[in-house]
Amino acid sequence: MILNLGVIGTGAIGREHIRRCSHVLRHAKVVALNDINRSQCEQVNRELDLQATIYDNPDDLIASPSVQAVMVTSWGPTHEAFVLAAVNAGKAVFCEKPLAVTAQGCMNIIEAEMAAGKRLVQVGFMRPYDSGYRALKQVLEQGEIGQPLMLHCAHRNPSVGEAYTTDMAITDTLIHELDVLRWLLNDDYVSAQVVYPRKTSRASSHLNDPQIVLLETAQGVRIDVEIFVNCQYGYDIQCEVVGESGIARLPEPMSVQTRRAATLASGILTDWKQRFIAAYDVELQDFITGALAGQISGPSAWDGYAAAVAADACLAAQNSGDIVAISMPARPAFYA
Ligand code: NAP
Repeated sequence: MILNLGVIGTGAIGREHIRRCSHVLRHAKVVALNDINRSQCEQVNRELDLQATIYDNPDDLIASPSVQAVMVTSWGPTHEAFVLAAVNAGKAVFCEKPLAVTAQGCMNIIEAEMAAGKRLVQVGFMRPYDSGYRALKQVLEQGEIGQPLMLHCAHRNPSVGEAYTTDMAITDTLIHELDVLRWLLNDDYVSAQVVYPRKTSRASSHLNDPQIVLLETAQGVRIDVEIFVNCQYGYDIQCEVVGESGIARLPEPMSVQTRRAATLASGILTDWKQRFIAAYDVELQDFITGALAGQISGPSAWDGYAAAVAADACLAAQNSGDIVAISMPARPAFYA
């Protein structure tokens, strides 16, 4: 069985996902493309040897009988409308984060999906598919370090462009921690605070970098996440869980160690695409398999909503300097 995919958005991650669906993963074929920039679709079609139909109107792509499932990899503010259209057409849809740029937008999708009567939406949160995070979760669930008490995390990028702003540290960067830590702990956030250390001289004038986000969960776990997007030295994701009887750390990505010139060294990745390359593969294969079976089970619209609610609180905390409460309605049984 082959899942015929229509992709909206052929930019950086869109191309990566099209490449993996067409040339790496099983049981999928990209048959339709749309982008606000048609020539980009033509280029992707040519370079990845797709022979996909190019649609000038994304609604026509979603409605096309030759498209069984939709992948949304366009600019964030467009996601909500495309996901709603796919859900209303009864089609499975993989949507890159954010599911919507507001919590209310995510809730609109939740309501549409519940009205459709079955899960159709998978959000592109790939970290729960990363083998390191999965191993870490297993250690916690087997009680090897007792109950988790504190988490020390870091999300560091070598550098960011001029267009990156202080709020994007939350909406583009921290959003991955907001999703994966909730999943790791099987817990929800109840408050957020953002504090700013001394600013690096490498950041643009309009960007506060680094930032430290302090989160508290319903079960009383305290989390600090350092976001440092001009750290210079590499793309580095850290997560240390301090438990009652021990400490568990996210494994480092595999890297050859060298001993030479009186130095012991191992490389650090610089590219996020490389750091999570295997997780993206597993994530999309799970979507393809789930869509073909009519049983989507990856990160849900509810997970997208929970991340959006927490992100909104973090943005308010950035602006006020206060500890901002985070409250969520009860999770519907539909998403149990
Ligand atoms: P990008 O390179 O800017 O690509 C987005 C593409 O969508 C561009 O080609 C853009 O065209 C196009 N587009 C914008 N509005 C559109 C519309 N109304 N209809 C159709 N196409 C439209 O961005 P990206 O880095 O690929 O990011 C895309 C999404 O993926 C973002 O939401 C981002 O947060 C997410 N993402 C997730 C991860 C992850 O790790 N999960 C990593 C990277 C990105 P123009 O360039 O002409 O505007």
